[in-house]
Amino acid sequence: MTSPSSSTQVRVRFAPSPTGMFHVGGARSALFNWAVAKRSGGTFVLRVEDTDAARNKPEWTQGILDALAALGMHAEDPTFEGPYFQSQNAGLHAEAAGRLFEAGRAYYCDCTREDVAARTGNPHSGYDGFCRDRGLDYAPGRALRFRTPDEGETHVVDLVRGNPVFPNDAIEDFVIARGDGSPVFLLANVVDDMDERITHVIRGEEHLPNTPKQQLLWEALGATPPVWAHLPVIVNEKRQKLSKRRDKVALEDYLADGILPEAMVNYLMLLGWAPGNDEEILPFDELVRRFDVADVNSASAFFDVKKLTAFNGEYVRALSVEDFVAACDPWLHTPRAPWTEEQFDAEAFAAVAPLAQTRVALLSEITTNVDFLFLDEPVRDEQSWAKAMKPPAAELLPDARAALAALEPWEAEPLKDAVTAVGEKHGLKLGKAQAPVRVAVTGRTVGLPLFESLQVLGRERTLARIDAAIARLADAAAEPAE
Ligand code: GLU
Repeated sequence: MTSPSSSTQVRVRFAPSPTGMFHVGGARSALFNWAVAKRSGGTFVLRVEDTDAARNKPEWTQGILDALAALGMHAEDPTFEGPYFQSQNAGLHAEAAGRLFEAGRAYYCDCTREDVAARTGNPHSGYDGFCRDRGLDYAPGRALRFRTPDEGETHVVDLVRGNPVFPNDAIEDFVIARGDGSPVFLLANVVDDMDERITHVIRGEEHLPNTPKQQLLWEALGATPPVWAHLPVIVNEKRQKLSKRRDKVALEDYLADGILPEAMVNYLMLLGWAPGNDEEILPFDELVRRFDVADVNSASAFFDVKKLTAFNGEYVRALSVEDFVAACDPWLHTPRAPWTEEQFDAEAFAAVAPLAQTRVALLSEITTNVDFLFLDEPVRDEQSWAKAMKPPAAELLPDARAALAALEPWEAEPLKDAVTAVGEKHGLKLGKAQAPVRVAVTGRTVGLPLFESLQVLGRERTLARIDAAIARLADAAAEPAE
């Protein structure tokens, strides 16, 4: 069996259950499906598996739609079909269950877990087939079980797993509809895939154990099973499966930190797959051109947040300045920004944006880089203060103030020359001489290039901040030593 190609009408699907924040693993599955659909000129179906009414919430569904759209997968794209909702297919699920029963491929069962355990002597054993030939009809409380073939093997075509074979005698007679008549996931999922004419089921490895059962259902319902591809599990730096209790897994959280959607897409595409030639950072179209689900590795994939962040830095630097400014926008305003709308100055931001662009890896880092421009007082980092305000800072700052007060024009180059000259007077190289000025004005020892920053901040505010620092140093000197 081959990888999806343009010779067949490829229909893939992403079938999330809206039971929580949108997991990066789900995003990876969606993208791999999207890439297959794009590559083959096929269709990507979005099916929301919303049958677990107790756990589903409409806002999670909206969250999935928004997150997919942020990554480029949306209904306006001709590759996209849906969303369909599993709950709207209940009639078909019931009809399929009825058909399997009528054909003798399924039977009703009234055994409790305890009954089975008492017979087998093992509370964890699978179902023992007790009701197989009892000929029970439906009654409330009776589950419908699939009659698994006694002999033979179930062969599954899996493009990632090398076509696993499952002996049928190891597959219990599994439940397909509960005692209240409602179909279970295994059946609903298959019936929907059949209804949506899915040709390739590409999903997370955790569903591999379901696959022989689902393959049997496809066959019993008289349809040609799909080609499967089970994507490798995603793990953290301790090689543990990513879990929402332990790890940051919500796609939304990464976007809210300022990972660009394009960087996220690129990074997610590498979780279990490599585009070749040792290349990693590539435009999505090129990733799609190279993508083949048969090349996905079955070994677990490490979700490396550091690497993702570094990737993002590359994407940030590759933006045009205008796009960078636009991408920063959410962090420049309430509620993410620590300054008010009145304090914010778009022109000043635009002036320093090219300097900031080379320094931020996450867009959220923008605020600490530019807050000195907008807040009335710089955010003072006490450690930076202690480091920079050692002698001779108390003598140097008044000299710097005097030099800057008279400086013309107020531009980065003359500012640099003036501070260089003041430093020389105190026997300091520029690096050391500018530290007290930087901390006085920005509050921190690290930040954007100082003299460009001062140029944008303006003379008046620069001098006021140096004055405040001089006063603070004088107060400290006047206090009795402890
Ligand atoms: N709703 C299932 C899940 O979110 C989908 C399983 C599948 O892709 O077949 O895990």
